[in-house]
Amino acid sequence: MARIGFVGLGNMGGPMARNLLKSGHAVAGFDLSQEALDGFAAAGGTRAGSAAEAASGADFVLTMLPAGRHVRDAWLGAGGMAAAAAAAAILIDCSTIDVATAREVAAAAGRPMLDAPVSGGTMGAEAATLTFMVGGPEDAFAAATPILSAMGRSLVHCGGAGAGQAAKACNNMMLAANMIVTAEAFVLAEKLGLTHQALFDVASKSSGQSWALTSYCPVPGPVPGSPANRDYRPGFATALMAKDLGLAQEAAATAGAVTPLGAEALALYRRFQEEGHGDVDFSGIIAMLRRLTER
Ligand code: NAD
Repeated sequence: MARIGFVGLGNMGGPMARNLLKSGHAVAGFDLSQEALDGFAAAGGTRAGSAAEAASGADFVLTMLPAGRHVRDAWLGAGGMAAAAAAAAILIDCSTIDVATAREVAAAAGRPMLDAPVSGGTMGAEAATLTFMVGGPEDAFAAATPILSAMGRSLVHCGGAGAGQAAKACNNMMLAANMIVTAEAFVLAEKLGLTHQALFDVASKSSGQSWALTSYCPVPGPVPGSPANRDYRPGFATALMAKDLGLAQEAAATAGAVTPLGAEALALYRRFQEEGHGDVDFSGIIAMLRRLTER
């Protein structure tokens, strides 16, 4: 049993912390939201009075916060978590943030720190089936493996500080571009009089195949579990995809990589979000492509 401090008990962090409790760890949690703290305490967690209090005395200290500025502030700024953590503690940020902030916080923390963003969404967080993409020292990754395994099914050590965030940005950029072009192909098929099922049957066994097509098909029918079959309820919301694409573009600009399809995917998802569809599943962008086609 480990002593764990957990800060950020929202849609993802709440169920992740509950899974740590279920595995028998002692978890002290903190969140600015009283409601989030109440839910955590009802599941057997110990309320901490501040982020620093959650961090002090813990073997592992985790954060699951919205964005880079919250992470910097919690660890290095007013939250004071890095200073409050024990010298031997392992620090783990599971939030999805920009690579530059992940590296800056890890360098300044003065303790072994991992960036460990996740994929799998709130369902994966509830079911403890998340995938963790991890950057940071190898020995800290090895030490954190039992803790991360209590919340996820697949752990990949990607390299040094920031490598987990880099992997997440690259993966989601590929996913977004795949989804958009898959949706475009279905819209084109509609205009050409080709049925959805016929396109699916061919492309799923041909070189057009992708996860966006075979696991997350943007039209109802061919993949019964995909959000298209439930009116595009997420799943993975458009607002979160737009956030992740923004992080990928920031990383590309900083690193000097040319990513024109990633940039276009961001522009299209931002447009869909600005039209009021931020809470729609990201595969729902097919509706905007149809509207553009019919204009
Ligand atoms: P959320 O808004 O539900 O939870 C964030 C929590 O952090 C909130 O409860 C908020 O009160 C708390 N918080 C903010 N600042 C704080 C501070 N200084 N001290 C203590 N608590 C603070 O967000 P979420 O959906 O849980 O997402 C968290 C992270 O996980 C984000 O970076 C997101 O991009 C990433 N993520 C989310 C999903 C998803 O499907 N929701 C999937 C993968 C990754």
